[in-house]
Amino acid sequence: MQPKLKKLLALQDADRVIMAMEAELEALEPEISLLDGSVQRAEDALVAVRGALEDATTRRQDLETRMETYKVMQERRRQKLEWVRGAKEASALMAEIDLARTVLAKEEADWIRSADEVQEREARVEQGAADVTAEVESQVDRRAEIAKIQEECQSRLAEASEVRKKAAAKVERNLLQVYARIQKGRAPFAMYELHADACGHCFTSVPMHLRQQIGSGEALPTCEACGVLIYQAE
Ligand SMILES: [Zn+2]
Repeated sequence: MQPKLKKLLALQDADRVIMAMEAELEALEPEISLLDGSVQRAEDALVAVRGALEDATTRRQDLETRMETYKVMQERRRQKLEWVRGAKEASALMAEIDLARTVLAKEEADWIRSADEVQEREARVEQGAADVTAEVESQVDRRAEIAKIQEECQSRLAEASEVRKKAAAKVERNLLQVYARIQKGRAPFAMYELHADACGHCFTSVPMHLRQQIGSGEALPTCEACGVLIYQAE
């Protein structure tokens, strides 16, 4: 085999490893997205119940403030009743006090409902927080496995990149440019073996004169159909 062909193949071997590692890393992405999504959904649910709790707490606080005001006003009416002289005025005040008592009773009933609601929502927040923790914990083992795979891939990727750099430095410049251009094309790799009398990538038959060049190793022709470099395996 021609030395320049050997050097190119060394480059392609490094690229093969790089592509495999990149593909392996990429293949993990959907699963990582699923895991992230599950945590995100639990967190979103928690945010929603926290918001609902905040609303209920505000409602309860508003009711308490209003009830305080009613109680103060009612107390004033009672005090006023003590020094009111006229019977007509007193009975009007009594009627007012009765009405206010009814209103206050209704407000108190509302407050009890509101307080129940706060409690119920507090429980939901607690459950929501537990759900987030449970989801995160359920993923710990798989996340660790994924991290390990990623680490291994990254380390092999770094290694292959070093190998590639050295291999590329040995290939002559214009051949490297040809290789890079073909690599950017549709075929996964730039170089394919001659299979019987056809291109190893697209399986279009290679004309006799090119096969002779390939066989003698004197040239590194490209496939007329798909453009990859064709070589003869030893
Ligand atoms: Zn081809």
